[in-house]
Amino acid sequence: MEESISFGQYVRPIYVMAKPAGSRCNLACEYCYYLEKGMMYPAKPAQTMSDELLDLFIRDYIAAQPTPQVVFSWHGGETLLRSKDFYRRVVELQRKYGAGRRIENTIQTNGTLLDDEWCAFFRDNGWLVGISIDGPRRYHDRYRLDRRGGGTFDDVMHGIGLLAKHDVQWNALAVVNRFNGDDPEGFYDFFRSTGCRFLQFTPVVERILPREDGRMLASAADSDARLADFSVTPGQWGRFLCRVFDRWVTADVGEIFVQMFDATLANWVGQAPGLCTLSKICGHAGALEFNGDLYACDHFVFPEYKLGNIASTPIGELMRSTRQSAFGDAKLRSLPSQCRECRYLFACNGECPRNRFAYTRTGEPGLNYLCKGYYKFFDHAAPYMDFMRNELSHRRPPSNVMEWARRRLARSNDNKR
Ligand code: SF4
Ligand code: SF4
Repeated sequence: MEESISFGQYVRPIYVMAKPAGSRCNLACEYCYYLEKGMMYPAKPAQTMSDELLDLFIRDYIAAQPTPQVVFSWHGGETLLRSKDFYRRVVELQRKYGAGRRIENTIQTNGTLLDDEWCAFFRDNGWLVGISIDGPRRYHDRYRLDRRGGGTFDDVMHGIGLLAKHDVQWNALAVVNRFNGDDPEGFYDFFRSTGCRFLQFTPVVERILPREDGRMLASAADSDARLADFSVTPGQWGRFLCRVFDRWVTADVGEIFVQMFDATLANWVGQAPGLCTLSKICGHAGALEFNGDLYACDHFVFPEYKLGNIASTPIGELMRSTRQSAFGDAKLRSLPSQCRECRYLFACNGECPRNRFAYTRTGEPGLNYLCKGYYKFFDHAAPYMDFMRNELSHRRPPSNVMEWARRRLARSNDNKR
C-alpha cells in the first residue's frame, strides 16, 4: 500500500481550489465555513489576488500537472466579487501557459451576482458553474442570508434562470443541515423541478471553538469543541440519503447525477469514486488563498494545516510534499478498528477525517460523527448497488435497476401495510 501511495502522487494530477477574493462574500450565510477565514489575514482586509500572483499560479499549476487535461477550480468566498476583466485575464494566461493542454474551469458561486454578461462569458469559454442553493425557499432562506439578514432565494433563482437562458452548464451544491434534513423528498423534487441534472448534497457538520482572533470554528486537531446546532444529525443524514436514493433509483438513474450515489457505485465496482470523502486516501486537492498561502484542503484552512506559499515554493512541490502525503494517507491510517472491521469500509472509507470526532462502540476515538447515517445508507443501497454492478459487468446500462427497484420497493411497502 505504501508503495502505491507514493508512486501514485507523481502520476496523479493535483487540484487546487483558488480563492481570488479570499473569503470575502456579499452574503452572510449562517453556517458558512469560510467567511471567518479573513480573520487570519487582518492586515489584508481586501483579500485580493494580485495580477502577479495570478500569473505565477496559472503558470505553476499547469506546469505541475502530469496530464494533458488541467482543471482550474475558482472558489470563495464569493468568486464573482472579482471583475469580469479578472476572469478574462485568467483565460488569457491559461492560453499563454497552456502549451496545448486541455484547460477546464469550474467556478463556485452563490449565484446572486450573475448577469447576462457573466453568463455569456461562462458559455463562450465553456466554464462549469456550481451554484450554492439549499433547496426550496423555505429551506434556503433559513441560513443563506444577505448582509441585512434577508433571504436570498429569489436572487439565486434569478441567477439560475440566466444560466438556463444562456445555456451555461451548471450543477447545484446543496448543504443538508439540521433544518432541511427531514424533508428529503421535498428537497430532491425541488431540484428536479429546476431542471438541474447534476446534484451534490453535502452534510453540514461544524464544531464551535471560539478563538482569540474572532474565529469560531474548530479544526480537526481541536478537541473539546461543541457541535454547532445547524449540523445535520447522523440519523437525519442516513434517512435523507436513503429516501433521496429511493426517489432516484426508481426514476432518475442515468438522467440525474447525484454525486454521492455515483461515488458509491464507483466504489462498488472498484473504481475511483470522484468524491474525496469516500476515497481511501485524499490530499490531492489543496486550497490557495488570495496571497499565495496553500493549505492541505479547503476544509483545513487553519494555520496548522498551511503547507507554504507558492511565491516561494512551487505548487507541485508543496502538494507532493511529505507533509501533504502524510495528510492524505492519514485518512486511511487513522481509521479506528470499527471502520477497519466494517463491511462497508470499501464504500465509506471512514468519510472525511474532519468529521472523525466521535467514539466507537468500544470507546476508541476517531470514529466519524456521521457513521450511523452512512452505515444505514450503504446497507439500504447495497442490493441496488449489487444489481447495477452486475448490469455493468454484463455491459448493460445501470439504469436497468429502475424497473427492479420499483417492484422491490412496492413489495416492501405492501409488506409494511
Ligand atoms: S480532508 Fe476531507 S474534504 Fe479534505 S480532501 Fe480529505 S476527505 Fe476531502
Ligand atoms: S460506516 Fe461507519 S464504521 Fe463503516 S467505514 Fe463508515 S464510518 Fe467507519
